[in-house]
Amino acid sequence: MNHKQRMEIVIAGQGLAGTLLAWELWKRDIRFRIFDPGYGNHSSLAAAGMFSLLAARRLKEMELAGQQYKVMKETFGQIVDELGRKFLHELPTARLMTNEEIPAWEIAAKGGISHLVKSVYPEFKAMGVANGYGAAIIEPSGYIDLPEFLHSMREWMATKQLLIEESVDYNSLKTSANGFMINGHTKSRKVIFCEGPSISNNPWFNYSNIRQNKGEWIEIEAPGLSQEHIIKKEIFILPLGNGRFRVGATFSHGEMDHNPTEAARTELEEKLRTMIHVPYRVTDHRAGIRPSSRNRLPVAGPHRDIPGLYIFNGLGSRGVIQAPWYAKILCNEIGPQK
Ligand SMILES: Cc1cc2nc3c(=O)[nH]c(=O)nc-3n(C[C@H](O)[C@H](O)[C@H](O)COP(=O)(O)OP(=O)(O)OC[C@H]3O[C@@H](n4cnc5c(N)ncnc54)[C@H](O)[C@@H]3O)c2cc1C
Repeated sequence: MNHKQRMEIVIAGQGLAGTLLAWELWKRDIRFRIFDPGYGNHSSLAAAGMFSLLAARRLKEMELAGQQYKVMKETFGQIVDELGRKFLHELPTARLMTNEEIPAWEIAAKGGISHLVKSVYPEFKAMGVANGYGAAIIEPSGYIDLPEFLHSMREWMATKQLLIEESVDYNSLKTSANGFMINGHTKSRKVIFCEGPSISNNPWFNYSNIRQNKGEWIEIEAPGLSQEHIIKKEIFILPLGNGRFRVGATFSHGEMDHNPTEAARTELEEKLRTMIHVPYRVTDHRAGIRPSSRNRLPVAGPHRDIPGLYIFNGLGSRGVIQAPWYAKILCNEIGPQK
């Protein structure tokens, strides 16, 4: 890039956070560029992309989940209109449970979460699912195909010349009149860092306390297993079509690398075998890192000391339902009118 350009906003990182923020800026006609080299740590590409409004262990709706779901649907609906492709897939969840758990679910299903629990079966029958479980059928739930979404949005932003295929170089970030100079060629009034787990390299936000949490999943082929529901117990089984399923995920605070481990695969397969009784074949095994905050809420807002620098991170394991909501709020806060 040899010409200098002046922007209102530069976004660093084209994961889920940066992409949805870019979408909101584009809708508001705010002049921006999004920087991402297209390689490196990428939490969103490792994610199953599932959403649900229910905190199943507490038998409660998650805080703000109803409103966040509405915003997520609205946002992905608008994206379908612009890109002509659908990324959000609704699919009910069957949460398997033991006999002892059923009474509490039956009470909850008639009370405060009746709008989320469609039915409770004392004996759940579905092709390939192990016998002896009851199940609660939970809706709304489903998943966003994040790899498809992020690749399509990347292409779309590239054709609109909104994408710069570079990392934001922290060392070369300079304060200039009315803002910042990024990578020696782009001036911007504001910079919003959306680097997911790579925030650990960012010297400006080293106080932000975003933690890393490793997750692993396997992909299986199980032609005899029902594709009607996302099946959940301690782990999830997400139907991908054509007899393929993603099974995950583990949570670990150990080594923060992207290497799949034998221990995680054993854990996943042991849990899987308690949920299904049909043969399967493991076809893939991967790992990713979740960026999460201590209080499990996203971090979206200004730098504590430096005007013009912002962060949008800490989406944790609920990025899909939270990101559209927080992208909108952050965008309202940073728009050029302020
Ligand atoms: C195994 C696993 C399963 C998950 N399952 C789910 C799920 O089912 N549902 C759900 O809601 N969430 C899930 N998550 C969590 C979800 O993936 C994250 O909350 C979300 O993807 C984080 O998005 P992000 O944009 O903050 O980070 P990322 O997706 O990591 O994006 C950061 C981007 O910033 C770029 N970048 C880094 N440094 C720079 C720089 N200096 N300059 C420019 N660009 C830079 C990177 O290349 C990357 O593209 C899962 C996560 C894992 C690991």
